[in-house]
Amino acid sequence: MDVHIFFLPFLAPGHMIPMTDLAKLLAGRGVKATIVTTTANASRVQPALDGSPHLDVTLLTLPFLPSVPENVTSLPTPGLTPEFIAGLNSLKSSFERLLVEHRPDCIISDVFYPWTGDLAAEHGIPRIAFHGTGSFVFSVGAAIRRFKPHEIASADDEPFLLPGLPHRVELCRSQLMGGMDGSDELMNQMTESYMKKTYGDVMNTFHEMEPGYADQLSKKTWLVGPVSLCNRDATERAVRGGGGGGQENEFDRCLDWLDSKSAGSVLYACFGSLGQFSSSQLGEIAGGLNSSGRPFVWVVRNNAGYDDTSEWMPEGFEEEEGLVIRGWAPQMLILSHPAVGGFMTHCGWNSCMEGASAGVPMVTWPLFAEQFFNERLLVDVLGIGVAVGSKVCSNVVEERTFVSREQVRKAVEEVMGGGEEADERRKSAREVAEMARRAVEEGGSSYNGLSSLIQELRDIKAGDAALSENVVTGLTQRELIE
Ligand code: UDP
Repeated sequence: MDVHIFFLPFLAPGHMIPMTDLAKLLAGRGVKATIVTTTANASRVQPALDGSPHLDVTLLTLPFLPSVPENVTSLPTPGLTPEFIAGLNSLKSSFERLLVEHRPDCIISDVFYPWTGDLAAEHGIPRIAFHGTGSFVFSVGAAIRRFKPHEIASADDEPFLLPGLPHRVELCRSQLMGGMDGSDELMNQMTESYMKKTYGDVMNTFHEMEPGYADQLSKKTWLVGPVSLCNRDATERAVRGGGGGGQENEFDRCLDWLDSKSAGSVLYACFGSLGQFSSSQLGEIAGGLNSSGRPFVWVVRNNAGYDDTSEWMPEGFEEEEGLVIRGWAPQMLILSHPAVGGFMTHCGWNSCMEGASAGVPMVTWPLFAEQFFNERLLVDVLGIGVAVGSKVCSNVVEERTFVSREQVRKAVEEVMGGGEEADERRKSAREVAEMARRAVEEGGSSYNGLSSLIQELRDIKAGDAALSENVVTGLTQRELIE
């Protein structure tokens, strides 16, 4: 029998979606794939599995702590509360029962579950980490920890150069995420488990997306992305992430609307599953999109406290200027529509990968976490992004940079308009998309990455590659994270 892998995604769409794609990819290559998640989150995964009936992916569920929200989307901010972290940790015992019952050959688990490293070691199987990011952020993080360039900057908004990277990349202190100074307990546990009890990394990226960066990682790493490209038909793309949850009619409305627009004319604006704004900031986005004169699809999260649209949406705005989707949009379907010519994104890693795979240039508007690092990759390294001017990384809406409607308009115009620079950016975006397509084709780098991961797991199962202490830690390459 072939190898059996347990997948344990972190409880947020930005992690569950790509890990489901990964499970599907591996199932398509003959691996027995089992996704393990909590009862309430199963409904976010099941539609994606139903949409690919030819793939044999099993879903198993675990109970979560009573009365604690089961997904980051239900927390007041993207920052994890102690109750939520306790909920994540409480999964350990029931997950172990499933390990004993099903005896998988490998665990691919999110870095947010440091205890999966212990369980894997106890059960004599490899734990492979899934970070939900690419490799660029590791190089940036390592450069910051090693050289501390932010300590020399005289002000929070003064740019400093990151030493030791293959490209010229600058950040400022206000763009750094919390926890990088070792003050975050969960992050410290994650790092410890990652360094000592993790066999390797599987990453949703491909070589050309982050040129020279994966080589700097400290672990064995398999680059297998863009994983989203496993969703080839419209149904698969629509049901990704749980689908519309009753919004299917709106999906059709959106596609009909896009069909009526000319190629490359529409800007798609979406800030991920967690992007929230103040009402006044929403008003500026509305004003900027409006004055750009470009048709747009704008996704505004529901249940984010701004249901009273009169506070921020000009009257008649939705019908006149573009399409506003409240709640969940079929992002992959929209991005792959020929009418879409630009993407305003918060630079969550999946959105970066999906925008790059769709070959569209991006307006970058990072909000929190490692999104400011991803912005630099799109803007400075790949040359496919224009920064809107967001400078402060924070989970708290009010602490972030207030971006004016004029800044929004200007960035949209730069991306969607004519001129040499815009043409060059579009050309680069198309080239990156072509490289992404080739990477996942048979014989491409990510296709081969997946083959090599599967072969290594088969060898371990067959006893050809002993799971020695050295191998458990996977420390075979240059040590970068200290
Ligand atoms: N997404 C979607 N529709 C939405 C919002 C998000 O399909 O309305 C998907 C998007 O395609 C991506 C994921 O949700 O796969 C969001 O992940 P990302 O890393 O971009 O951002 P996060 O939500 O983690 O901040």
